[in-house]
Amino acid sequence: STVTFDGRFARELAELAVPWQAEEAPSPVLLVLNEKLAKDLGLDPHYLRSPEGVRLLVGNHVPAGATPVAQAYAGHQFGGYSPLLGDGRALLLGEVTDQSGRLLDVHLKGSGRTPFARAGDGRAVVGPMLREYVVSEAMHALRIPTTRSLAVVATGRQVRRDDMLPGAVLARVASSHLRVGSFQYARATENMDLLKRLADHAISRHYPHAADAGNPYLALFGSVVSAQAALVARWMLVGFVHGVMNTDNMTISGETIDYGPCAFMDAFDPAAVYSSIDVSGRYAYANQPVLAEWNLARLAEAMLPLIDEDQEKAVAPAVEVLGGFRGQYSKAWSGGMQTKLGLEGAAGSDHDAASGLVDDAIALLKDGPVDYTLFFRNLGKAARGDLRPVRGMVLDLAAFDAWAQRWQALKPDPELMDSVNPAYIPRNHLVEEALSAATDGSLAPLELLLEAVSDPFTERPGLERYAEGAPGDFGRYMTFC
Ligand code: AMP
Ligand code: MG
Ligand code: MG
Repeated sequence: STVTFDGRFARELAELAVPWQAEEAPSPVLLVLNEKLAKDLGLDPHYLRSPEGVRLLVGNHVPAGATPVAQAYAGHQFGGYSPLLGDGRALLLGEVTDQSGRLLDVHLKGSGRTPFARAGDGRAVVGPMLREYVVSEAMHALRIPTTRSLAVVATGRQVRRDDMLPGAVLARVASSHLRVGSFQYARATENMDLLKRLADHAISRHYPHAADAGNPYLALFGSVVSAQAALVARWMLVGFVHGVMNTDNMTISGETIDYGPCAFMDAFDPAAVYSSIDVSGRYAYANQPVLAEWNLARLAEAMLPLIDEDQEKAVAPAVEVLGGFRGQYSKAWSGGMQTKLGLEGAAGSDHDAASGLVDDAIALLKDGPVDYTLFFRNLGKAARGDLRPVRGMVLDLAAFDAWAQRWQALKPDPELMDSVNPAYIPRNHLVEEALSAATDGSLAPLELLLEAVSDPFTERPGLERYAEGAPGDFGRYMTFC
């Protein structure tokens, strides 16, 4: 491998980086490799499939010049503050520059205990690591900002969970692993120089234009607010439930991170929750925008002394910037919904009619159980003249017919609809099927699912069952992580 790993994070933010080594994997076997991403990173797929390459992907071969580190961070978990979390089972291998000149983190998850492991075993298992691989690659194909997945390697070790399960390491790529919780940690140390270096690092990597603002740190905060408003709107538009929106799982870059108990909704349900640990429904589908805003308020608190040396004076501008979240989120969501209905760019009275149609479509969805993804995909067929598939999904036919008449009067664009309403998402029953087959040693279902979700907007022969809703007997879905 000719790729050089930098150690910029560790160098610039040494207080947040503990040099550490991965635990030895007894007999690593590559389960899945993202060849396209590998090439984008300048990593040769043939090399990554070689014994040394596989050892690199589990952390046992450290490339020359690399210094793997566990990163420190804090975080609010389900609303309660933990002053010290950090990478308990993960290592940042270092940064690489991709073919287009972007600096990207290469990170390993499941690579063994670190000084932040607390009671954890430092390990990860095949099923959840493959879930992260499939769902993050699906999100990327849906054009939603996200960390990427480079590979999953089975370690050859059995890991104790409720049962004994095969262990695995995920190699993940991100534009950085800076989190809201990184700022909370730096703030809590009361080391203002560290907090400032962290903010400067974030500006340089993600929002370089903020450096030119009158108040660069306020501009950094505003950039994160905007990125998260746009991101969460995208989640809502595709029916994604993150499941564990703790402040340590929210990035500064605006990429989706930490695919644990996440899921895509089948039937539209504002109260949808899939995580076995989210007993109060804090991170239910419809709560996500409000919880993102709550997390950003925690970021503002951590950044106050940067925004103004006199923290009292920092409050009003920070509150004003945070106040922009709701408007930015709503604009992104309503615009996205109008596009899903094929009505992008409606102006004047058509614009008002389009936003009324959005509200009334949501009311139709709430009335049903209506499969969220299929509803919009079938609406594309309706825009081409075949109303039957979507009409067959709703309960109140009179209400639907009245709605459809108003909608068709605005001349929805079916091609636009098909370019934003996916046919293939990582549906829960398909993900479960693929993960349990993989856990039992068969990778074929996973490979087919990846093929479907990697190109979600174009229906292809042979993939029909991947575009269908959950079977009637699938029941209530729960994820454990
Ligand atoms: P998460 O809920 O996945 O964001 O994880 C929250 C915290 O728990 C992070 O600090 C993780 O590094 C840590 N953690 C999760 N699972 C393990 C494990 N098996 N061993 C050690 N630390 C873990
Ligand atoms: Mg996490
Ligand atoms: Mg996790």
